[in-house]
Amino acid sequence: MFAQLNNLAEEARRLSPDEGERKRWAQAIFAYTEGYYEALADSPAYHDDPSPSRDIARTPIPEAGLPMEQILGQFRQQVEATGINPTSGKFMGYIPGGGLYPSALGDWLAAITNRYASVFFASPGAAAIENRLVQWAANLMGFPEKAGGFLASGASMATLSCIHTAREHQQITHKQVDRAVVYLSSETHHVITKCIHIAGMKAAILRQIPVDEAFRMDPQALQAQVEADKASGLIPFLLVGSLGTTNTGAVDPIPVLADIAATHGMWFHIDAAYGGFFALSELAREHFEGVDRAHSLVADPHKSLFLPYGTGLALVRDLNWMREAHAYMGDYMLDTLVHADQVSPADISPELTKHFRGLRMWFPLQLMGLAPFRAALSEKILLARYAYMQIARLPDAEMGPEPGLSVFVFRFCPQGVDPEAFNATMARDIQAQGQVFLSTTRLKGVFFLRVAILCFRTHREEVDLLIQTVRDHLLQQLEQVAPSH
Ligand SMILES: *Cc1c(COP(=O)(O)O)cnc(C)c1O
Repeated sequence: MFAQLNNLAEEARRLSPDEGERKRWAQAIFAYTEGYYEALADSPAYHDDPSPSRDIARTPIPEAGLPMEQILGQFRQQVEATGINPTSGKFMGYIPGGGLYPSALGDWLAAITNRYASVFFASPGAAAIENRLVQWAANLMGFPEKAGGFLASGASMATLSCIHTAREHQQITHKQVDRAVVYLSSETHHVITKCIHIAGMKAAILRQIPVDEAFRMDPQALQAQVEADKASGLIPFLLVGSLGTTNTGAVDPIPVLADIAATHGMWFHIDAAYGGFFALSELAREHFEGVDRAHSLVADPHKSLFLPYGTGLALVRDLNWMREAHAYMGDYMLDTLVHADQVSPADISPELTKHFRGLRMWFPLQLMGLAPFRAALSEKILLARYAYMQIARLPDAEMGPEPGLSVFVFRFCPQGVDPEAFNATMARDIQAQGQVFLSTTRLKGVFFLRVAILCFRTHREEVDLLIQTVRDHLLQQLEQVAPSH
């Protein structure tokens, strides 16, 4: 038996590389990432061809390990060189963010030390880091001392917890679900509806409140709808306000929505997945009036705090609401009760064991301080205004609302062409070229090109390139539809 143990141990020891091997691997990764950064300014914002990724989908999982160089080579060709490049300053589609370098260092340390951030007993320090970050963010939103929350993998999971908490707090029984009403606008992110469904409330009534010309929820229409619903015996349950819609960056009239929610005893949730950390910019402070009156709020550090993907934030104005909706106990966790007075992320959220996410947020904030974040966010707001003004000057431009934050839409409507086909062709051509990336959307059914400026690497230069690219494509297409131009 000992001989067998020795043999197994010898093989198993390959799971613990020695110092030399660790250094070789780490240096290979370090060389790779340095090369990546060096090439980044000239890298495309989008690779139109997905075919290299087909090989990786068929790669065997080997019985014996492969050399690091081979694995990295495959990553470069089959992963890095496919799809969008969210680290590029020229990427202005969907909601950019970037991916801060110190977050990678935080992830590195988190994986190597593998601290158990979910339970205070298991890692008082890791839990304290998460709780401290949550408290800082709650403070930024103007929430009171008793507020709290947790770090999730993104806004979707954070929203799911908030909606579950709302349903428990409002005591919507499953017999009542089909009379419970959720108030959204036509611009609310689809994740709300998705989470309502996952939370077992598919039978709930969803009211899409109309928006004004700037795509903000119309509070009068909301008020009228809530009153009509109440009069017909329904239960106004949840009001969702957006602090920065995905389509246009519109900010709903938060203080008025807070009043209406309070008057009718509804839970007021704010989706600030995109807009949340603009609270750090003086230029956006006005949008945050009344935010402290929300019951819950979701923000995405992987958007307006520039972190790599995988970090969302859920906040509630009273941590007890979240605890009551999530706390469970198993006998195998009795040891942890000695610190029951401390907040354990596992007691207020769906996850038990989880990634030590706090460290990827902690490192950038501690290493670089808040000042560069404030500057970068204000810069994005001004860049969006600048790009909006420049594009508005192009021939036949039809602009959406002025950017309140850093997103705007536009299209071109030359005489005698089908605008949807004309603009869809332009978007597709710009994307296929790959130099800059913008995305598309529909507003009230109308097709638009859409620009979102939020990568911390986007500066005046990148925005000028965007404007130039749009201009070139426009002139070229105009030439084709009316060569006499
Ligand atoms: C991105 C976004 C979401 C979804 O967040 P994920 O982090 O992708 O899960 C929800 N709401 C808004 C307004 C968003 O911009």
